[in-house]
Amino acid sequence: SKSPKQPPLPSPLRFSKFYQSNMRILITGGAGFIGSHLVDRLMEIEKNEVIVVDNYFTGSKDNLKKWMGHPRFELIRHDITEPLIIEVDQIYHLACPASPIFYKYNPVKTIKTNVIGTLNMLGLAKRVGARILLTSTSEVYGDPLEHPQNESYWGNVNPIGVRSCYDEGKRVAETLMFDYHRQHGLEIRVARIFNTYGPRMNIDDGRVVSNFIAQALRGEPLTVQSPGTQTRSFCYVSDLVDGLIRLMEGSDTGPINLGNPGEFTVLELAEQVKELVNPDVEIKMVENTPDDPRQRKPDITKAKELLNWEPKFQLRDGLPLMEEDFRLRLGVVKK
Ligand code: NAD
Ligand code: UDP
Ligand code: UDP
Repeated sequence: SKSPKQPPLPSPLRFSKFYQSNMRILITGGAGFIGSHLVDRLMEIEKNEVIVVDNYFTGSKDNLKKWMGHPRFELIRHDITEPLIIEVDQIYHLACPASPIFYKYNPVKTIKTNVIGTLNMLGLAKRVGARILLTSTSEVYGDPLEHPQNESYWGNVNPIGVRSCYDEGKRVAETLMFDYHRQHGLEIRVARIFNTYGPRMNIDDGRVVSNFIAQALRGEPLTVQSPGTQTRSFCYVSDLVDGLIRLMEGSDTGPINLGNPGEFTVLELAEQVKELVNPDVEIKMVENTPDDPRQRKPDITKAKELLNWEPKFQLRDGLPLMEEDFRLRLGVVKK
């Protein structure tokens, strides 16, 4: 039931198929890259009703078209910086642009989404007694002085830089989650997600894996931002979604790192993409953006122990799946 205070529903509603053991799940940002894969996975479970709330800033209805009209699915255009009244059992709170070019485009809006948006979702969770999961980010570690990063590291973050709307925004969002937990007894879950890639990423969203694959398919040079020795760890989206669901269903609040510990320099990634997609393209060194973290690799000991989770896809397994999706969307056939 949605709320313990509600009187029982009259039959026949009460005995309808949907009333019995359904779980009503809200996904904010569900029209985005990770969100839409999460929708797919949750919709496979018959007892779930899924409601997506999205303002389509970086997401698209296209990502959800297979569920349009499904009786257990609803899509609502809504901006989470405004209050939302709805009755749900669980909230996966993902809404927030994730790619640097999008979150820097309107930084004030990004911080509003992180702070006011998260506050609204917590107010909602409190009113209806729902469990809420926040998708935080490895960016909370900033340009880390510890390597690899585990959850007890507090981070090295510039509070006034061009990335601050995102990384400081997520840090406040985490604080709000834990304050609602301590002050109001809310059931919270916090995931710190490391770079994730896969089908349905925005083709021109500026992140490194999508950039390199799109560039290779278009026959353009792969733009490695200097020095190219900076590292990232890339997690395939289906592994990530599996981790998010385990975290939601488990009993630990987090924060828990979710990511793939395989670490690559950006130059190594460029070389892998070149070899796989188009050996004819050149690799070009270009200028970097400010505050770019020099290294990043998750310590996933906690996720292994508490969630019995670890990624299954290595970079060499995931890149071809993403290549296939980008070929279809860009209309570039394999020679
Ligand atoms: P995405 O940009 O594809 O998805 C974000 C979604 O949120 C979009 O559909 C967008 O339209 C929606 N949105 C943005 N602002 C909104 C608002 N004010 N109201 C309603 N909807 C809004 O990004 P993604 O990669 O799917 O990321 C999803 C979440 O995971 C984000 O919270 C992001 O910070 C987090 N995350 C992602 C990564 C990654 O590598 N992809 C890494 C760390 C954390
Ligand atoms: N809120 C919401 N939906 C709800 C309940 C609350 O969007 O169902 C918003 C509400 O507008 C407020 C925020 O969540 O801005 C925090 O709510 P809370 O009740 O925790 O605090 P208060 O309203 O007392 O500031
Ligand atoms: N990067 C790059 N070329 C690009 C896009 C990104 O070399 O076309 C680099 C960027 O400098 C950073 C890394 O790839 O060191 C990851 O960047 P991305 O924007 O994908 O994610 P984030 O910085 O949030 O980890």
